[in-house]
Amino acid sequence: MELWQEFLASAIRTPAQLRRYFPEIDVAALERVAEVYPMCVTPYYLGLVQRIDDPIARQCIPDPVELDSFGLVADPLAEESMSPVPCVVHRYPDRALFLVSSQCAMYCRFCTRKRKVGTDWAITDELRREGLAYIARTPEIRDVVVSGGDPLMLSDGLIEGVLSGLRRIPHVEVIRLGTRTPCTLPQRITPRLVRMLRKYHPLYVNTHFEHPRELTPDAVRALTRLADAGIPLGNQSVLLRGVNDDPAVFLELNRRLLSARVKPYYMFQADLVDGTAHFCTPIETGLDVIRGLRGHTSGMAVPHFVIDSPGGGGKIPILPQEYVRREGRQLILRNYRGQIHLYSDRTAEPNPCEEIAGMPDLIEAFEPLAAIG
Ligand SMILES: *Cc1c(COP(=O)(O)O)cnc(C)c1O
Repeated sequence: MELWQEFLASAIRTPAQLRRYFPEIDVAALERVAEVYPMCVTPYYLGLVQRIDDPIARQCIPDPVELDSFGLVADPLAEESMSPVPCVVHRYPDRALFLVSSQCAMYCRFCTRKRKVGTDWAITDELRREGLAYIARTPEIRDVVVSGGDPLMLSDGLIEGVLSGLRRIPHVEVIRLGTRTPCTLPQRITPRLVRMLRKYHPLYVNTHFEHPRELTPDAVRALTRLADAGIPLGNQSVLLRGVNDDPAVFLELNRRLLSARVKPYYMFQADLVDGTAHFCTPIETGLDVIRGLRGHTSGMAVPHFVIDSPGGGGKIPILPQEYVRREGRQLILRNYRGQIHLYSDRTAEPNPCEEIAGMPDLIEAFEPLAAIG
């Protein structure tokens, strides 16, 4: 067994085992949760917990409130109905999501796929072959996001089978791996794994850090190995109440990620998934985080704030209103200090639609004058 497999074998998978670390927990209540939404935490990740309700604990320790659905649904992004074969979600014209593993090193309590990840959902060789076959016969797919579960829960040999299978498909240009192991099980990023991955460029890795305390020396070492293999790294975080719903926390997280050569890529509004309602934040929180980053720190540290639209409409970016309005060719803009700046869009064709869109405002502005006149 490799070291990471030993770490995984010693993961905490029952509330009774958690009791050793947190004598105050209600084992029976947490067992009812774990029957529906399995738990798994690596000893490494649990070691980052300082208090039972801190930002690390909230991500990994089951909470009885998960059993209250608050009217939310299991699959708000309609992934199942956009799956031409069981392991592929094909929502966008030129890219597809390929689920190759049903397991993770840790079951995040806010998981978008908590309806099935870690349950008796299983992804077999046969299903992976079916996924590859679908991608092979669908020439418009040029970018494949390999995810799960966590693809790095597979053995190096199985991962290589997936990557080499994808590389044999001429129309697949880019491969992206989505994995949280640099955060939850950094020991998984072995020199051997990285030597294998680098054969399949252009390969990107998107990882999943939610809080600055997760960027430990072990995590940074794992990220360094990947970056040194020429793998561009991105991060996808989720805005989570009680974890990172604070501009100062995100500022530190994203600065530390950049220092570890990881570009913050997406910041997701938490999906409206059954069992995760307690993590949801108002949209204004996300806008405040973006306002707290843009202009105040490197532009490289500013992710796209997106809502993955319920019903399967895809990711939609939300921006603070920096483009206040347009009056003819004059744009009225607001900078990061809240000051108004003008930009003259000199070379633009006057656009009748935009002129009309600005009309109600103008009418409102001129109405008092008209009354006087
Ligand atoms: C997020 C996602 C992708 C990738 O989207 P990008 O915006 O290109 O990162 C592809 N397919 C599905 C189903 C997704 O949810």
